[in-house]
Amino acid sequence: KVDFWRGPARPSLPVDMRVPFSELKNVKSYLESHGLDYSVMIKDIQVLLDEEREAMAKSRRLERSTSSFSYSSYHTLEEIYNWIDSFVTEHSDIVSKIQIGQSFENRSILVLKFSTGGSQRPAIWIDTGIHSREWITHATGIWIAKKIVTKYGKDPVLTNILNAMDIFMEIVTNPDGFAFTHSMNRLWRKNKSTRPGIFCIGVDLNRNWKTGFGGNGSNKNPCSETYHGPFPQSEPEVAAIVKFITAHGKIKALISIHSYSQMLMYPYGHTLEPVSNQRELDQLAKSAVTALTSLYGTEYEYGSIIQTIYQASGSTVDWTYDQGIKYSFTFELRDTGRYGFLLPASQIIPTAQETWLALRVIMDYTQSHPY
Ligand SMILES: [Zn+2]
Repeated sequence: KVDFWRGPARPSLPVDMRVPFSELKNVKSYLESHGLDYSVMIKDIQVLLDEEREAMAKSRRLERSTSSFSYSSYHTLEEIYNWIDSFVTEHSDIVSKIQIGQSFENRSILVLKFSTGGSQRPAIWIDTGIHSREWITHATGIWIAKKIVTKYGKDPVLTNILNAMDIFMEIVTNPDGFAFTHSMNRLWRKNKSTRPGIFCIGVDLNRNWKTGFGGNGSNKNPCSETYHGPFPQSEPEVAAIVKFITAHGKIKALISIHSYSQMLMYPYGHTLEPVSNQRELDQLAKSAVTALTSLYGTEYEYGSIIQTIYQASGSTVDWTYDQGIKYSFTFELRDTGRYGFLLPASQIIPTAQETWLALRVIMDYTQSHPY
């Protein structure tokens, strides 16, 4: 009955879990009788949930009265999709909207395309929110989209990138799960697919990819938070990306953004076998993290997924790497557990600003190392 926010990984990393009040006594006595140290991270989740809801309502009132979008607030799916429409209209010279598929519950799966011309240019892919409860990732993606249109023609690094490459951003990678985090369960992680005869709902979209599918670090039990699904790419949200990336054929860097833990990682997650350009990716991760930390001192760990966080099979970047996208990375944004998934909206802009610096390093490197 506990919900792991950070699953068991290595002896040096803590495990974070949400415990229902009814189980608190049992969990505490279990830990004590096994000599396991623990501390209370958040005493009452409901307090944070109430604060978050109130902050959203307040910003919604202000946004309505001023017809402006607040980049320092969290938003619902409808608000984000409305923002996408006006953003694309306002910046039609550089941004367009592509629908790459439909979710299990028939919501549109949208991708922003940033392009300054050319046809079938090499491209960079960024996705946020594949796990729906990781709200800081969608908010960071929105801020970065705005940053890209604002800085084109002003920031020489970004300008060079966009003169040679396109950038694709999928802000809401799991729209059904995200809608559910607003309507019913703020801490929902998976998508919302159902199958006849299976009681539990949802597949972990970051375990549904073909590379290493079904291996350790994923779960065959449909009730698990890391359920990998019945077969690779069984989920429309994953299948849509697979189809898009395969058809495009010239994605040169892919960055898949999660929270939380403050880490920047490269493949693999399913095996300890190092990727062929491990040294290059490690150097690049180091430079990106150095840039990120330079702004506010936020400390990040970096390395391969399996050695930095834990074994994860069937994850996005293992598949994209094996497709030949040799600059494949995944982020875990702020924080390290003070608020976990309930990161206050006051941290959206600083998180986005520092993340942007790291992304810029990866994109710049990709542009100057064509393959
Ligand atoms: Zn995640």
